Amino acid sequence: MTTKIPFNVLKPEYERHRAEYIAAATRVLDSGWYVLGTEVEAFEREFARMAGASFCVGLNSGLDALSLALRAIGISSGDEVIVQANTYIATVLAITGNSAKPILVEPDEFYGLDPKRLKAAISSRTKAILPVHLYGCPCEMGEIAEIAAERGVPIVEDCAQSHGAAYSGKMCGTFGKIGCYSFFPTKNLGAFGDAGAIVTDDAELAKRVKMLRNYGSERKYYNEMQGVNSRLDEMQAALLRVKLSHIDEALAEREKIVKFYLSNIKNDRVKLPQARPNCRHVYHLFVVETDHGEAFRKHLEERGIGTQIHYPIPPHLSKAYSEIGYKRGDFPITERMAQRMTSLPLFLGISEEQMRRVVDAVNEW
Ligand SMILES: *Cc1c(COP(=O)(O)O)cnc(C)c1O
Repeated sequence: MTTKIPFNVLKPEYERHRAEYIAAATRVLDSGWYVLGTEVEAFEREFARMAGASFCVGLNSGLDALSLALRAIGISSGDEVIVQANTYIATVLAITGNSAKPILVEPDEFYGLDPKRLKAAISSRTKAILPVHLYGCPCEMGEIAEIAAERGVPIVEDCAQSHGAAYSGKMCGTFGKIGCYSFFPTKNLGAFGDAGAIVTDDAELAKRVKMLRNYGSERKYYNEMQGVNSRLDEMQAALLRVKLSHIDEALAEREKIVKFYLSNIKNDRVKLPQARPNCRHVYHLFVVETDHGEAFRKHLEERGIGTQIHYPIPPHLSKAYSEIGYKRGDFPITERMAQRMTSLPLFLGISEEQMRRVVDAVNEW
């Protein structure tokens, strides 16, 4: 019996840099200071540089990053926010969490926000456009930015899956007012627990999010707005700094794995992912499309290969959103994706032998 190939494992990367992680954790433990200190400040500086932005504010999660970003630009009750229908539900939760209305539109062929459908969906109530660089593939930001500028609507980007991605040489997350990141452990830059951040070039917005994350105060006990507690802690920041120092290697390794899959998978029944022209796709996920997705996954499972679906239930069909007025059939492309998408094993430390087995099993189908 051959060993199973998991869909994802985090341990090989940890073990590679174990001594550095232990040193960082020890530094924090020994410091006696655990919330909002020098590690968070240093991480914010270092991540802003990597993300190509002037400011970074460390937060508790990617959902908080999206939620506080929308709040910081003034989104409130009744406002409409346009987002692609095939996103992860957290993007939509950030909109409804601000009492705003999500306007869902079908994705383009790269699974990103479709500029044509975006244009058709904009109304006088549209107060933000929220492109999601899903799977690590940049949205069509040239056209989206043009439409946003024409209509005077701000852009907030969901970069939870796109650390390091760029459109036409410009970093994703810098096309609008704010870029929102998640550092959930499985993301391209993952913490050892929950974490997130926003990046922006706007000093005022950075200051507002900084206040919002800390009960709405800049100065202790002087509260200027009704904030939340969404602080990145020193431990996560210190560990993230270690991982960030190796991000170039990590992205290069991902690219190598993807190249192997792209050049060796040869099966007319399997549609491979593509990078949008003129873009840096960072392949947070390697997602293939097939008819009969369930049978395809079963075929792989029988050969010991772990897979996942991103995502099996689109937000508009989730029970959580049974009351926002969408129904089955409203977004056929998105609904069809849920039947067809399969994410193949992609993690740092996957061996050539393991990749070969994935390729063989996919080709055999
Ligand atoms: C992971 C993810 C989020 C949420 O991030 P958390 O840190 O888990 O809250 C939001 N949007 C997308 C597209 C994601 O993949």
